[in-house]
Amino acid sequence: LAAEGWDLTDPRDLARIEEGRTPFAEHRWSAGDADTGTPREITNPARPEDVVGTVFEASADAVKDAVARGVAAQPGWAATPVAERADILRRIADLYEANAPEIFALCTREAGKSLFDGVAEIREAVDFLRYYANQAPRAEKDSEARGLIACISPWNFPLAIFTGQIAAALATGNAVIAKPAEQTPLIAARAVQMMHEAGLPEDVIQLMPGDGPNVGAPLTADPRIAGVCFTGSTEVAKLIDRQLADTAPDAMLIAETGGMNAMIVDSTALPEQAVRDILASSFQSAGQRCSALRILYVQRDVEERVLDMLYGGMEALGMGDPWNLSTDVGPVIDAEARDGILSYCEEMEGKGRLLKQLEAPEGSDGLFVPPHVFRVSGIEEMEREIFGPVLHVARFDADEIDDVVAAVNAKGYGLTFGLHTRIDGRVQQVVDGIHVGNLYVNRNQIGAVVGSQPFGGEGLSGTGPKAGGPLYLTRFRKPKSEPSDPVVAE
Ligand code: NAD
Repeated sequence: LAAEGWDLTDPRDLARIEEGRTPFAEHRWSAGDADTGTPREITNPARPEDVVGTVFEASADAVKDAVARGVAAQPGWAATPVAERADILRRIADLYEANAPEIFALCTREAGKSLFDGVAEIREAVDFLRYYANQAPRAEKDSEARGLIACISPWNFPLAIFTGQIAAALATGNAVIAKPAEQTPLIAARAVQMMHEAGLPEDVIQLMPGDGPNVGAPLTADPRIAGVCFTGSTEVAKLIDRQLADTAPDAMLIAETGGMNAMIVDSTALPEQAVRDILASSFQSAGQRCSALRILYVQRDVEERVLDMLYGGMEALGMGDPWNLSTDVGPVIDAEARDGILSYCEEMEGKGRLLKQLEAPEGSDGLFVPPHVFRVSGIEEMEREIFGPVLHVARFDADEIDDVVAAVNAKGYGLTFGLHTRIDGRVQQVVDGIHVGNLYVNRNQIGAVVGSQPFGGEGLSGTGPKAGGPLYLTRFRKPKSEPSDPVVAE
Protein backbone atom coordinates (compact mmCIF):
# COMPACT_ATOMS: atom_id res chain seq x y z
CA LEU A 1 0.00 0.00 0.00
CA ALA A 2 2.84 2.34 0.87
CA ALA A 3 4.31 1.67 -2.58
CA GLU A 4 1.10 2.91 -4.13
CA GLY A 5 1.50 6.17 -2.28
CA TRP A 6 -1.18 5.63 0.36
CA ASP A 7 -0.82 7.35 3.68
CA LEU A 8 -2.57 5.41 6.44
CA THR A 9 -2.72 8.43 8.69
CA ASP A 10 -4.78 10.35 6.12
CA PRO A 11 -8.57 9.78 6.42
CA ARG A 12 -9.01 10.35 2.66
CA ASP A 13 -6.61 7.51 1.93
CA LEU A 14 -8.36 5.30 4.46
CA ALA A 15 -11.58 5.95 2.57
CA ARG A 16 -9.86 4.91 -0.68
CA ILE A 17 -8.73 1.65 0.90
CA GLU A 18 -12.29 0.99 2.00
CA GLU A 19 -13.48 1.56 -1.56
CA GLY A 20 -10.81 -0.74 -2.95
CA ARG A 21 -11.81 -3.51 -0.60
CA THR A 22 -15.54 -3.36 -1.10
CA PRO A 23 -15.78 -5.49 -4.28
CA PHE A 24 -13.86 -8.27 -2.58
CA ALA A 25 -16.57 -8.66 0.02
CA GLU A 26 -18.54 -10.35 -2.77
CA HIS A 27 -15.62 -12.50 -3.83
CA ARG A 28 -15.14 -16.20 -2.96
CA TRP A 29 -11.68 -17.72 -3.09
CA SER A 30 -10.76 -21.38 -3.40
CA ALA A 31 -7.67 -23.49 -2.79
CA GLY A 32 -6.47 -27.04 -3.38
CA ASP A 33 -7.43 -29.71 -5.87
CA ALA A 34 -11.21 -29.68 -6.41
CA ASP A 35 -11.11 -33.09 -8.16
CA THR A 36 -9.42 -35.08 -5.41
CA GLY A 37 -9.47 -32.99 -2.24
CA THR A 38 -11.90 -32.95 0.67
CA PRO A 39 -13.81 -29.65 0.77
CA ARG A 40 -13.90 -27.40 3.82
CA GLU A 41 -15.64 -24.03 3.96
CA ILE A 42 -13.65 -21.15 5.39
CA THR A 43 -15.71 -18.54 7.20
CA ASN A 44 -14.90 -15.06 8.48
CA PRO A 45 -14.19 -15.17 12.25
CA ALA A 46 -15.79 -11.75 12.73
CA ARG A 47 -18.94 -12.71 10.77
CA PRO A 48 -19.47 -16.46 10.64
CA GLU A 49 -22.21 -16.09 7.99
CA ASP A 50 -19.60 -14.67 5.56
CA VAL A 51 -18.16 -17.62 3.60
CA VAL A 52 -14.72 -16.55 2.39
CA GLY A 53 -14.19 -19.57 0.19
CA THR A 54 -13.60 -23.30 0.00
CA VAL A 55 -10.43 -25.30 0.43
CA PHE A 56 -10.00 -28.81 -0.97
CA GLU A 57 -7.69 -30.45 1.54
CA ALA A 58 -4.95 -32.84 0.46
CA SER A 59 -4.76 -36.54 1.43
CA ALA A 60 -1.73 -38.48 2.65
CA ASP A 61 -1.42 -40.00 -0.85
CA ALA A 62 -1.39 -36.54 -2.43
CA VAL A 63 1.42 -35.60 -0.05
CA LYS A 64 3.44 -38.63 -1.18
CA ASP A 65 3.01 -37.68 -4.85
CA ALA A 66 3.94 -34.08 -4.13
CA VAL A 67 7.12 -35.17 -2.36
CA ALA A 68 8.13 -37.24 -5.39
CA ARG A 69 7.53 -34.28 -7.71
CA GLY A 70 9.36 -31.85 -5.42
CA VAL A 71 12.40 -34.14 -5.12
CA ALA A 72 12.52 -34.49 -8.93
CA ALA A 73 12.22 -30.74 -9.55
CA GLN A 74 14.75 -29.56 -6.95
CA PRO A 75 18.07 -30.18 -8.78
CA GLY A 76 16.94 -28.07 -11.74
CA TRP A 77 16.02 -25.23 -9.41
CA ALA A 78 19.34 -25.50 -7.52
CA ALA A 79 21.15 -25.30 -10.88
CA THR A 80 19.35 -22.06 -11.74
CA PRO A 81 21.83 -19.20 -11.13
CA VAL A 82 21.26 -17.53 -7.77
CA ALA A 83 20.75 -14.13 -9.42
CA GLU A 84 17.87 -15.59 -11.41
CA ARG A 85 16.33 -17.19 -8.33
CA ALA A 86 16.61 -13.85 -6.52
CA ASP A 87 14.96 -12.03 -9.40
CA ILE A 88 11.96 -14.35 -9.22
CA LEU A 89 11.60 -13.59 -5.49
CA ARG A 90 11.68 -9.86 -6.31
CA ARG A 91 8.96 -10.39 -8.91
CA ILE A 92 6.81 -12.13 -6.30
CA ALA A 93 7.28 -9.10 -4.01
CA ASP A 94 6.15 -6.82 -6.84
CA LEU A 95 3.06 -8.97 -7.42
CA TYR A 96 2.18 -8.90 -3.71
CA GLU A 97 2.35 -5.11 -3.81
CA ALA A 98 0.33 -4.89 -7.02
CA ASN A 99 -2.36 -7.11 -5.47
CA ALA A 100 -2.20 -5.55 -2.00
CA PRO A 101 -5.91 -4.59 -1.77
CA GLU A 102 -7.00 -8.15 -2.57
CA ILE A 103 -4.53 -9.73 -0.12
CA PHE A 104 -5.56 -7.17 2.43
CA ALA A 105 -9.23 -8.14 2.01
CA LEU A 106 -8.32 -11.80 2.44
CA CYS A 107 -6.30 -11.05 5.59
CA THR A 108 -9.31 -9.26 7.04
CA ARG A 109 -11.90 -11.86 6.08
CA GLU A 110 -10.00 -15.11 6.51
CA ALA A 111 -7.70 -14.21 9.43
CA GLY A 112 -9.61 -11.39 11.16
CA LYS A 113 -6.74 -8.92 10.70
CA SER A 114 -7.30 -5.25 11.53
CA LEU A 115 -6.23 -2.44 9.20
CA PHE A 116 -2.86 -2.00 10.91
CA ASP A 117 -2.19 -5.74 11.05
CA GLY A 118 -3.22 -6.36 7.45
CA VAL A 119 -0.91 -3.66 6.13
CA ALA A 120 1.95 -4.88 8.33
CA GLU A 121 1.37 -8.42 7.08
CA ILE A 122 1.86 -7.47 3.44
CA ARG A 123 4.81 -5.19 4.25
CA GLU A 124 6.61 -7.94 6.17
CA ALA A 125 6.03 -10.56 3.47
CA VAL A 126 7.43 -8.22 0.82
CA ASP A 127 10.41 -7.37 3.05
CA PHE A 128 11.21 -11.08 3.54
CA LEU A 129 11.16 -11.68 -0.22
CA ARG A 130 13.46 -8.77 -1.02
CA TYR A 131 15.77 -9.31 1.96
CA TYR A 132 16.35 -13.00 1.21
CA ALA A 133 16.75 -12.22 -2.50
CA ASN A 134 19.55 -9.81 -1.56
CA GLN A 135 21.15 -12.21 0.95
CA ALA A 136 21.02 -15.33 -1.23
CA PRO A 137 24.36 -14.89 -3.10
CA ARG A 138 26.25 -14.67 0.23
CA ALA A 139 24.79 -17.99 1.41
CA GLU A 140 26.09 -19.85 -1.67
CA LYS A 141 29.74 -20.00 -0.60
CA ASP A 142 31.12 -23.55 -0.16
CA SER A 143 27.65 -24.93 0.30
CA GLU A 144 24.80 -26.60 -1.55
CA ALA A 145 21.03 -26.67 -1.31
CA ARG A 146 19.58 -29.31 0.97
CA GLY A 147 16.80 -30.65 -1.24
CA LEU A 148 13.06 -30.58 -0.56
CA ILE A 149 11.98 -28.53 2.46
CA ALA A 150 8.60 -28.81 4.21
CA CYS A 151 7.43 -25.34 5.31
CA ILE A 152 4.74 -25.56 8.00
CA SER A 153 3.22 -22.30 9.14
CA PRO A 154 0.67 -20.89 11.64
CA TRP A 155 -2.49 -18.89 10.96
CA ASN A 156 -1.51 -15.79 12.93
CA PHE A 157 0.82 -14.45 10.20
CA PRO A 158 -0.83 -16.23 7.27
CA LEU A 159 1.09 -14.31 4.61
CA ALA A 160 4.23 -12.98 6.33
CA ILE A 161 5.50 -16.15 8.02
CA PHE A 162 4.18 -18.38 5.24
CA THR A 163 6.10 -16.29 2.69
CA GLY A 164 9.24 -15.81 4.81
CA GLN A 165 9.81 -19.54 5.23
CA ILE A 166 9.24 -20.27 1.55
CA ALA A 167 11.37 -17.33 0.35
CA ALA A 168 14.33 -18.49 2.45
CA ALA A 169 14.11 -22.07 1.20
CA LEU A 170 13.70 -21.06 -2.45
CA ALA A 171 16.40 -18.37 -2.40
CA THR A 172 18.91 -21.01 -1.35
CA GLY A 173 18.00 -23.47 -4.13
CA ASN A 174 15.63 -25.81 -2.31
CA ALA A 175 12.22 -26.96 -3.52
CA VAL A 176 9.29 -26.48 -1.13
CA ILE A 177 6.09 -28.16 -0.06
CA ALA A 178 4.15 -25.59 1.94
CA LYS A 179 1.55 -26.69 4.50
CA PRO A 180 -0.35 -23.61 5.63
CA ALA A 181 -2.43 -23.59 8.80
CA GLU A 182 -5.83 -25.22 8.24
CA GLN A 183 -7.50 -21.94 9.26
CA THR A 184 -5.85 -19.79 6.55
CA PRO A 185 -5.37 -21.81 3.34
CA LEU A 186 -6.91 -19.22 1.01
CA ILE A 187 -4.33 -16.49 1.62
CA ALA A 188 -1.68 -19.20 1.15
CA ALA A 189 -3.21 -20.39 -2.12
CA ARG A 190 -3.40 -16.86 -3.50
CA ALA A 191 0.25 -16.33 -2.53
CA VAL A 192 1.39 -19.54 -4.26
CA GLN A 193 -0.58 -18.54 -7.35
CA MET A 194 1.47 -15.32 -7.49
CA MET A 195 4.68 -17.30 -6.94
CA HIS A 196 3.91 -19.41 -10.02
CA GLU A 197 2.91 -16.30 -11.95
CA ALA A 198 6.31 -14.78 -11.09
CA GLY A 199 8.03 -17.69 -12.83
CA LEU A 200 8.54 -20.44 -10.26
CA PRO A 201 8.13 -23.90 -11.79
CA GLU A 202 4.95 -25.70 -10.57
CA ASP A 203 6.78 -28.45 -8.70
CA VAL A 204 9.37 -26.19 -7.08
CA ILE A 205 6.69 -24.72 -4.81
CA GLN A 206 3.66 -26.90 -4.10
CA LEU A 207 0.83 -26.15 -1.68
CA MET A 208 -0.63 -28.97 0.43
CA PRO A 209 -3.58 -27.55 2.37
CA GLY A 210 -4.99 -29.51 5.29
CA ASP A 211 -4.61 -30.00 9.02
CA GLY A 212 -1.74 -31.29 11.13
CA PRO A 213 -2.67 -34.97 11.54
CA ASN A 214 -3.78 -35.56 7.91
CA VAL A 215 -1.24 -33.48 5.98
CA GLY A 216 1.47 -32.10 8.31
CA ALA A 217 2.24 -35.46 9.94
CA PRO A 218 2.60 -37.53 6.71
CA LEU A 219 4.72 -34.74 5.24
CA THR A 220 7.20 -34.65 8.13
CA ALA A 221 7.23 -38.47 8.29
CA ASP A 222 8.39 -38.79 4.67
CA PRO A 223 12.08 -39.77 4.71
CA ARG A 224 12.69 -37.95 1.42
CA ILE A 225 12.27 -34.56 3.17
CA ALA A 226 15.63 -32.79 3.62
CA GLY A 227 14.37 -30.38 6.24
CA VAL A 228 11.41 -28.83 8.03
CA CYS A 229 10.93 -25.13 8.60
CA PHE A 230 8.21 -24.87 11.25
CA THR A 231 6.53 -21.99 13.06
CA GLY A 232 3.77 -22.76 15.55
CA SER A 233 3.28 -24.16 19.02
CA THR A 234 6.04 -25.69 21.14
CA GLU A 235 4.00 -28.93 21.46
CA VAL A 236 3.83 -29.53 17.70
CA ALA A 237 7.53 -28.61 17.29
CA LYS A 238 8.39 -31.35 19.78
CA LEU A 239 6.29 -33.88 17.82
CA ILE A 240 8.09 -32.96 14.60
CA ASP A 241 11.50 -33.13 16.28
CA ARG A 242 10.77 -36.67 17.49
CA GLN A 243 9.41 -37.66 14.09
CA LEU A 244 12.53 -36.47 12.28
CA ALA A 245 14.80 -38.24 14.77
CA ASP A 246 12.98 -41.43 13.78
CA THR A 247 12.66 -41.17 10.01
CA ALA A 248 15.14 -38.57 8.77
CA PRO A 249 17.86 -37.99 11.37
CA ASP A 250 19.96 -35.92 8.94
CA ALA A 251 17.11 -33.53 8.16
CA MET A 252 17.42 -29.90 9.18
CA LEU A 253 14.82 -28.48 11.59
CA ILE A 254 14.11 -24.83 12.23
CA ALA A 255 11.34 -24.39 14.81
CA GLU A 256 10.00 -21.00 15.89
CA THR A 257 7.51 -21.55 18.68
CA GLY A 258 5.53 -20.03 21.53
CA GLY A 259 6.45 -17.66 24.33
CA MET A 260 5.59 -16.58 27.89
CA ASN A 261 6.68 -13.00 27.41
CA ALA A 262 7.20 -10.60 30.30
CA MET A 263 7.77 -6.87 30.73
CA ILE A 264 9.20 -4.91 33.64
CA VAL A 265 7.91 -1.39 34.29
CA ASP A 266 9.85 0.26 37.12
CA SER A 267 9.12 3.44 39.03
CA THR A 268 11.35 5.58 36.76
CA ALA A 269 9.51 4.57 33.57
CA LEU A 270 7.47 7.14 31.65
CA PRO A 271 3.95 5.89 32.44
CA GLU A 272 2.24 7.14 29.25
CA GLN A 273 4.82 5.45 27.07
CA ALA A 274 4.78 2.26 29.11
CA VAL A 275 0.98 2.03 28.99
CA ARG A 276 0.85 2.65 25.24
CA ASP A 277 3.32 -0.17 24.78
CA ILE A 278 1.50 -2.51 27.15
CA LEU A 279 -1.77 -1.96 25.28
CA ALA A 280 -0.18 -2.64 21.89
CA SER A 281 1.90 -5.58 23.07
CA SER A 282 -0.95 -7.35 24.87
CA PHE A 283 -4.06 -6.60 22.86
CA GLN A 284 -3.10 -5.78 19.29
CA SER A 285 -3.98 -8.70 16.97
CA ALA A 286 -6.27 -9.77 19.85
CA GLY A 287 -3.13 -11.02 21.62
CA GLN A 288 -2.56 -13.62 18.91
CA ARG A 289 1.14 -12.93 18.45
CA CYS A 290 3.95 -15.13 19.65
CA SER A 291 5.73 -11.93 20.77
CA ALA A 292 2.73 -10.62 22.75
CA LEU A 293 3.14 -9.47 26.33
CA ARG A 294 1.62 -12.06 28.71
CA ILE A 295 2.84 -10.90 32.14
CA LEU A 296 3.54 -7.37 33.29
CA TYR A 297 5.79 -6.87 36.31
CA VAL A 298 5.12 -3.39 37.66
CA GLN A 299 7.01 -1.82 40.56
CA ARG A 300 4.81 -1.59 43.65
CA ASP A 301 5.02 2.20 44.15
CA VAL A 302 3.76 3.03 40.64
CA GLU A 303 1.39 0.11 40.24
CA GLU A 304 -1.83 1.94 40.98
CA ARG A 305 -1.03 4.79 38.60
CA VAL A 306 0.08 2.50 35.78
CA LEU A 307 -2.93 0.20 36.12
CA ASP A 308 -5.39 3.10 36.24
CA MET A 309 -3.94 4.45 33.01
CA LEU A 310 -3.96 0.99 31.49
CA TYR A 311 -7.65 0.48 32.26
CA GLY A 312 -8.43 3.91 30.79
CA GLY A 313 -6.55 2.97 27.63
CA MET A 314 -8.39 -0.34 27.41
CA GLU A 315 -11.76 1.42 27.56
CA ALA A 316 -10.72 3.41 24.47
CA LEU A 317 -9.94 0.30 22.38
CA GLY A 318 -12.36 -0.30 19.51
CA MET A 319 -13.37 -3.97 19.39
CA GLY A 320 -15.34 -5.54 16.58
CA ASP A 321 -15.29 -6.43 12.91
CA PRO A 322 -11.91 -5.52 11.42
CA TRP A 323 -13.65 -4.65 8.15
CA ASN A 324 -14.46 -1.49 10.10
CA LEU A 325 -11.29 0.57 9.85
CA SER A 326 -11.50 1.93 13.41
CA THR A 327 -11.25 -1.54 14.96
CA ASP A 328 -8.22 -2.09 17.19
CA VAL A 329 -9.09 -5.55 18.53
CA GLY A 330 -10.65 -8.01 16.09
CA PRO A 331 -11.88 -11.57 16.60
CA VAL A 332 -9.83 -14.60 17.59
CA ILE A 333 -9.22 -17.14 14.87
CA ASP A 334 -11.85 -19.83 15.49
CA ALA A 335 -14.48 -21.15 17.91
CA GLU A 336 -12.01 -23.56 19.51
CA ALA A 337 -9.63 -20.68 20.31
CA ARG A 338 -12.47 -18.53 21.66
CA ASP A 339 -13.85 -21.29 23.89
CA GLY A 340 -10.41 -22.21 25.21
CA ILE A 341 -9.47 -18.63 26.11
CA LEU A 342 -12.88 -17.88 27.64
CA SER A 343 -12.81 -21.00 29.77
CA TYR A 344 -9.34 -20.00 31.07
CA CYS A 345 -10.76 -16.53 31.87
CA GLU A 346 -13.69 -18.06 33.76
CA GLU A 347 -11.33 -20.25 35.74
CA MET A 348 -9.17 -17.24 36.70
CA GLU A 349 -12.24 -15.21 37.57
CA GLY A 350 -13.45 -18.07 39.75
CA LYS A 351 -10.17 -17.85 41.65
CA GLY A 352 -10.86 -14.17 42.32
CA ARG A 353 -8.06 -12.97 40.03
CA LEU A 354 -9.96 -10.66 37.69
CA LEU A 355 -8.69 -7.05 37.68
CA LYS A 356 -10.31 -5.71 34.51
CA GLN A 357 -12.45 -6.97 31.67
CA LEU A 358 -14.01 -5.32 28.62
CA GLU A 359 -17.40 -6.29 27.20
CA ALA A 360 -17.76 -8.21 23.93
CA PRO A 361 -19.26 -6.17 21.06
CA GLU A 362 -23.04 -6.18 21.23
CA GLY A 363 -25.25 -7.86 18.66
CA SER A 364 -22.45 -9.77 16.97
CA ASP A 365 -22.03 -13.52 16.65
CA GLY A 366 -18.35 -13.05 15.76
CA LEU A 367 -15.66 -14.91 17.66
CA PHE A 368 -14.70 -12.15 20.06
CA VAL A 369 -12.78 -12.41 23.32
CA PRO A 370 -12.78 -9.10 25.16
CA PRO A 371 -9.42 -8.10 26.68
CA HIS A 372 -8.93 -9.35 30.28
CA VAL A 373 -6.39 -8.48 32.98
CA PHE A 374 -5.68 -10.90 35.85
CA ARG A 375 -3.63 -10.69 39.03
CA VAL A 376 -0.87 -13.26 39.53
CA SER A 377 1.99 -13.47 41.99
CA GLY A 378 4.51 -14.23 39.23
CA ILE A 379 5.24 -16.13 36.04
CA GLU A 380 5.77 -19.36 37.97
CA GLU A 381 2.00 -19.50 38.48
CA MET A 382 1.24 -19.47 34.76
CA GLU A 383 0.92 -22.91 33.24
CA ARG A 384 0.85 -22.30 29.51
CA GLU A 385 0.77 -19.70 26.75
CA ILE A 386 -2.78 -18.27 26.49
CA PHE A 387 -2.94 -17.16 22.86
CA GLY A 388 -5.40 -14.30 23.17
CA PRO A 389 -5.98 -10.81 24.63
CA VAL A 390 -5.22 -11.81 28.23
CA LEU A 391 -2.69 -9.93 30.36
CA HIS A 392 -1.40 -11.00 33.79
CA VAL A 393 -0.05 -8.50 36.28
CA ALA A 394 2.45 -9.09 39.10
CA ARG A 395 4.18 -6.56 41.36
CA PHE A 396 7.77 -6.31 42.50
CA ASP A 397 9.92 -4.16 44.79
CA ALA A 398 13.06 -2.23 43.79
CA ASP A 399 15.46 -4.89 45.09
CA GLU A 400 13.71 -7.75 43.25
CA ILE A 401 14.74 -7.14 39.63
CA ASP A 402 17.14 -10.08 39.62
CA ASP A 403 14.44 -12.33 41.09
CA VAL A 404 12.02 -11.35 38.31
CA VAL A 405 14.66 -12.05 35.66
CA ALA A 406 15.50 -15.41 37.29
CA ALA A 407 11.81 -16.42 37.45
CA VAL A 408 11.29 -15.57 33.77
CA ASN A 409 14.42 -17.51 32.79
CA ALA A 410 13.32 -20.47 34.90
CA LYS A 411 10.13 -20.79 32.86
CA GLY A 412 12.26 -22.07 29.99
CA TYR A 413 10.76 -19.97 27.20
CA GLY A 414 12.80 -17.13 25.74
CA LEU A 415 11.07 -15.16 23.04
CA THR A 416 10.52 -11.48 23.91
CA PHE A 417 11.09 -9.38 27.01
CA GLY A 418 10.20 -5.72 27.56
CA LEU A 419 11.81 -3.22 29.93
CA HIS A 420 10.62 0.28 30.75
CA THR A 421 13.13 2.21 32.84
CA ARG A 422 15.24 5.35 32.77
CA ILE A 423 18.11 3.85 34.77
CA ASP A 424 21.04 2.94 32.51
CA GLY A 425 22.51 0.44 34.96
CA ARG A 426 19.19 -1.39 35.08
CA VAL A 427 19.14 -1.87 31.33
CA GLN A 428 22.58 -3.49 31.55
CA GLN A 429 21.49 -5.59 34.55
CA VAL A 430 18.55 -7.02 32.58
CA VAL A 431 20.50 -7.41 29.33
CA ASP A 432 23.15 -9.41 31.21
CA GLY A 433 20.66 -11.62 33.01
CA ILE A 434 17.75 -12.40 30.69
CA HIS A 435 17.75 -15.29 28.22
CA VAL A 436 15.51 -14.20 25.34
CA GLY A 437 15.80 -13.81 21.61
CA ASN A 438 14.37 -10.28 21.46
CA LEU A 439 14.65 -7.64 24.18
CA TYR A 440 12.79 -4.33 23.87
CA VAL A 441 13.81 -1.30 25.97
CA ASN A 442 11.31 1.54 26.35
CA ARG A 443 9.23 0.42 23.37
CA ASN A 444 6.52 -2.09 22.59
CA GLN A 445 7.55 -5.71 22.14
CA ILE A 446 5.47 -6.30 19.11
CA GLY A 447 7.85 -8.29 16.94
CA ALA A 448 10.32 -8.15 14.12
CA VAL A 449 11.70 -5.75 11.55
CA VAL A 450 13.13 -7.73 8.65
CA GLY A 451 16.79 -6.90 8.12
CA SER A 452 17.25 -4.60 11.10
CA GLN A 453 15.64 -6.53 13.94
CA PRO A 454 15.72 -10.27 13.22
CA PHE A 455 13.26 -12.31 15.24
CA GLY A 456 13.50 -15.63 17.03
CA GLY A 457 13.54 -17.28 20.43
CA GLU A 458 15.68 -19.37 22.74
CA GLY A 459 14.90 -22.44 24.84
CA LEU A 460 11.30 -23.65 24.41
CA SER A 461 10.64 -20.66 22.11
CA GLY A 462 12.77 -21.76 19.18
CA THR A 463 15.90 -23.17 17.62
CA GLY A 464 17.13 -20.07 15.77
CA PRO A 465 18.74 -18.70 13.69
CA LYS A 466 16.59 -15.59 13.72
CA ALA A 467 14.29 -15.02 10.77
CA GLY A 468 15.00 -11.85 8.80
CA GLY A 469 18.65 -11.87 9.94
CA PRO A 470 21.95 -12.53 8.20
CA LEU A 471 22.42 -16.10 9.48
CA TYR A 472 18.99 -17.44 8.62
CA LEU A 473 19.74 -18.58 5.07
CA THR A 474 22.84 -20.53 6.09
CA ARG A 475 20.60 -23.19 7.70
CA PHE A 476 18.96 -23.90 4.36
CA ARG A 477 22.33 -24.89 2.83
CA LYS A 478 24.69 -27.67 3.83
CA PRO A 479 28.49 -27.51 3.66
CA LYS A 480 29.73 -28.83 0.33
CA SER A 481 31.98 -31.84 0.69
CA GLU A 482 34.79 -31.26 -1.83
CA PRO A 483 36.53 -34.38 -3.10
CA SER A 484 39.72 -34.67 -1.07
CA ASP A 485 43.13 -34.44 -2.76
CA PRO A 486 44.19 -37.81 -4.10
CA VAL A 487 46.63 -39.57 -1.82
CA VAL A 488 49.79 -40.11 -3.82
CA ALA A 489 51.45 -43.41 -3.08
CA GLU A 490 55.17 -43.02 -2.67
P1 NAD B 1 0.05 -25.05 15.82
O1 NAD B 1 1.30 -25.62 16.38
O2 NAD B 1 -1.23 -25.61 16.27
O3 NAD B 1 0.05 -25.22 14.23
C1 NAD B 1 1.13 -24.75 13.43
C2 NAD B 1 1.17 -25.56 12.15
O4 NAD B 1 1.53 -26.91 12.44
C3 NAD B 1 -0.18 -25.62 11.43
O5 NAD B 1 0.04 -25.55 10.04
C4 NAD B 1 -0.69 -27.00 11.83
O6 NAD B 1 -1.61 -27.56 10.93
C5 NAD B 1 0.60 -27.79 11.83
N1 NAD B 1 0.55 -29.05 12.60
C6 NAD B 1 -0.25 -29.37 13.64
N2 NAD B 1 0.00 -30.64 14.05
C7 NAD B 1 0.99 -31.13 13.26
C8 NAD B 1 1.70 -32.36 13.18
N3 NAD B 1 1.43 -33.37 14.01
N4 NAD B 1 2.66 -32.51 12.25
C9 NAD B 1 2.97 -31.50 11.40
N5 NAD B 1 2.32 -30.32 11.41
C10 NAD B 1 1.34 -30.12 12.33
O7 NAD B 1 0.13 -23.47 16.04
P2 NAD B 1 -0.96 -22.37 15.61
O8 NAD B 1 -2.11 -22.46 16.54
O9 NAD B 1 -1.19 -22.40 14.16
O10 NAD B 1 -0.14 -21.01 15.91
C11 NAD B 1 -0.04 -20.44 17.16
C12 NAD B 1 1.28 -20.81 17.83
O11 NAD B 1 2.37 -20.41 16.99
C13 NAD B 1 1.51 -20.10 19.14
O12 NAD B 1 2.07 -21.00 20.07
C14 NAD B 1 2.52 -19.00 18.79
O13 NAD B 1 3.28 -18.55 19.87
C15 NAD B 1 3.34 -19.69 17.75
N6 NAD B 1 4.04 -18.72 16.87
C16 NAD B 1 5.38 -18.54 17.01
C17 NAD B 1 6.05 -17.62 16.21
C18 NAD B 1 7.53 -17.37 16.34
O14 NAD B 1 8.11 -16.73 15.47
N7 NAD B 1 8.18 -17.86 17.37
C19 NAD B 1 5.32 -16.87 15.28
C20 NAD B 1 3.94 -17.08 15.16
C21 NAD B 1 3.31 -18.02 15.96
